[in-house]
Amino acid sequence: MSEDTTKAPEAEQLVRPSVPALDKVLGVKFDVLDDGFVRLVDYMGSDAAIVQAARVSYGKGTKKTSQDRGLIRYLLRHRHTTPFEMCEIKLHVRVPMDCWRQWIRHRTANVNEYSTRYSIAIDAAQQTEPSQWRRQAPGNKQGSKGFIDPGDGELLSKREREIQDASREVYQERLDAGVSREQARKDLPLATYTEAYWKIDLHNLLHFLSLRMDDHAQMEIREYAKLIGYEIVSQWCPIVWEAFLDYNMEKLVLSRLEIDIVGAIGRGDKQRAIEMATGFGWLKRGEKGLLRHRERNEFEQKLKQLNLPIPWKE
Ligand SMILES: Cc1cc2nc3c(=O)[nH]c(=O)nc-3n(C[C@H](O)[C@H](O)[C@H](O)COP(=O)(O)OP(=O)(O)OC[C@H]3O[C@@H](n4cnc5c(N)ncnc54)[C@H](O)[C@@H]3O)c2cc1C
Repeated sequence: MSEDTTKAPEAEQLVRPSVPALDKVLGVKFDVLDDGFVRLVDYMGSDAAIVQAARVSYGKGTKKTSQDRGLIRYLLRHRHTTPFEMCEIKLHVRVPMDCWRQWIRHRTANVNEYSTRYSIAIDAAQQTEPSQWRRQAPGNKQGSKGFIDPGDGELLSKREREIQDASREVYQERLDAGVSREQARKDLPLATYTEAYWKIDLHNLLHFLSLRMDDHAQMEIREYAKLIGYEIVSQWCPIVWEAFLDYNMEKLVLSRLEIDIVGAIGRGDKQRAIEMATGFGWLKRGEKGLLRHRERNEFEQKLKQLNLPIPWKE
């Protein structure tokens, strides 16, 4: 008699993996800025899924939690990235369009955005409190430093409200006149909120967070990134989150040039450290002393962090 090929092979009984701490915040709207939010819609995987995927590559099963932690930390430290792609997360976000313009540059997510061709634009625009107008940073063209006097900020905030109200009014007039939504929207401010569903795997989410939680990122997107990191990823994959802070966000990278100078400082050879920095072109002088040099400035920050002396400043 021939074998019955219609019978399914005995399946291993699996339970859908979940993370109770994250389940508790499913659907919760975390407020960001004055009218934005991040809402967890769905997720797949956990710390355990990363371990499971990594172990399959060398054919070993589950181990003790302490070994799992060690493995995850090893994978992250050594940039073994694919196991982290086993985890996915779907967020519903509400973000001002200028911030979204930075966000959407991250190409590895799956995105569906609210359509202002199809629907009336969301009637909300991000507003700035009088005390929150940031000054242009003197040394960093892309950054801000300190705040405008709140007294002066009163007028800036008042003018902001006026321009937002006026542009909304004009938008409404165009719609009332029968202008298409796709054209009527063109003068709405960048502060107008948009919404999107945003799905990304953990590897690429960590990349997003490392760029957007960083001090160099604009404050507004930093607020979103920090919320996603500290409120969501930390609950979802706590071991990964800890390793990410240790090996990514709070790491210190030294270039070959910097290692050479740190070596000389360690040997107590200040003169050699200065010679090397001079050779790298870091210590050029002008009339007012040392000329600005971005790489040298960054290295000086690292020396401060390491509590080491700056040889050319003593
Ligand atoms: C502080 C800051 C300032 C910035 N300033 C500017 C600016 O002035 N002007 C500007 O235009 N942008 C600017 N950006 C955006 C920046 O250049 C990147 O476009 C953005 O951060 C997305 O980074 P990414 O490409 O690494 O990320 P993702 O798009 O998420 O991609 C993740 C990784 O996938 C890989 N990848 C994705 N797509 C490709 C591809 N097509 N080919 C090869 N590899 C790919 C890369 O390794 C990439 O790092 C700035 C970003 C930051 C954080």
